[in-house]
Amino acid sequence: MQTISVKCKLQVPIELRSEIDRTLQGFADACNQIYEVAKREKCWNTTKLHHLVYKPIRETTKLKANHVCQAIRRVIGNAKACRQPHKFRPTSINLDARTFEYFEELQSVGVTLMCGRKQFKLSIGNYQLALLKGQTPTAATLNKTKRGDYYINICVDLPTDPTGKTPKVIGVDLGRRDIATTSNGKSWSGEKIQATRDRYSKVRANVQSKRTRSSRRLLRRLSGREQRFQKWLNHNISKQLVQEAKQTNSGLAFEDLTNIRESLNQKPRSKTERRRTNNWAFYQLRVFVQYKANISGIPVVFAPPAYTSQTCSRCHHIHPEKDKGKSYRYGKLFKCGHCGFECDADVNAALNIAALGISVNNPEVPGITCLLEGQRELFPTGSENWDKAPTSTKRKRSKLG
Ligand SMILES: [Zn+2]
Repeated sequence: MQTISVKCKLQVPIELRSEIDRTLQGFADACNQIYEVAKREKCWNTTKLHHLVYKPIRETTKLKANHVCQAIRRVIGNAKACRQPHKFRPTSINLDARTFEYFEELQSVGVTLMCGRKQFKLSIGNYQLALLKGQTPTAATLNKTKRGDYYINICVDLPTDPTGKTPKVIGVDLGRRDIATTSNGKSWSGEKIQATRDRYSKVRANVQSKRTRSSRRLLRRLSGREQRFQKWLNHNISKQLVQEAKQTNSGLAFEDLTNIRESLNQKPRSKTERRRTNNWAFYQLRVFVQYKANISGIPVVFAPPAYTSQTCSRCHHIHPEKDKGKSYRYGKLFKCGHCGFECDADVNAALNIAALGISVNNPEVPGITCLLEGQRELFPTGSENWDKAPTSTKRKRSKLG
């Protein structure tokens, strides 16, 4: 099962807006008070905190019983997720089976507010309807946007296809020039996208230097627009990646970028490049791919990122470190100094990731072999790769051998 949240717009009659706002305010007040108690008593256990705060919070905020329970969970969840939780604002409330219900025929939801249970119609399209079909969701979050609209994020469990083992793996290189490149040679050109992002960050830099109230407001709006653009793009790319994997019965392999920030930052890079790699956009893309792949039953593996761009995807020769400042990369082109293999640099990296992914996914398959002098015995002659090696390499080999 894969849990996803379905975002639905609520139709709220004017007279009920203040009721929702009052409940949101009460929930935020409760969270802030609970957080103070938890910090003072150093108590971060749900049950223990419940005994400490339940009664006084219900009396001061007049919230319903399950609202208070959810507020306790929200505080503890937030404290675990970030070290310094900010003040809770009246913008969202968590709902559970006792405070929320979905009515499929009516396309509406029942939500318990401080004044009691109210029903709201949903403004949703076929996409949301299909996801909610036959579901009896038991959790949701009600949100109020800055513009004053109300949305409800309904959690639904989707059945997933069983993940089968597959000998085929599509490697995906998340790049700086292109957003993503697959080992099949498909790529999502970063140029236009990067231009848009650079434009946003340029405006942002301009605005940030001013620091007036109106510039701060503009800053917030821009970041929201940039985020929505990025999200749309990542949904788009991840959908296509998963579709391609499904059609070709392959798995997907990515670089394990968990520690990429540190390792990349050790090398001198331009300010622009640093901003691009530190971007959480890559993280978001992988999260999207993972849940979509999970629904479609496609295995996703992560390969160690070391040397994927310096290694030749045909002979697996790695560019020697002693030649500092040089590499096999010439702009967009990768040219192996050992076997002469030429390829698009990003595709070459994606091929390496795919090869690593195959050996992670199917350990019994001999995935990677090496052509280097000292390790010749690892490379069985007569194998498929050997035939592809250029004659110059073979000649050199036979002389040595
Ligand atoms: Zn090579």
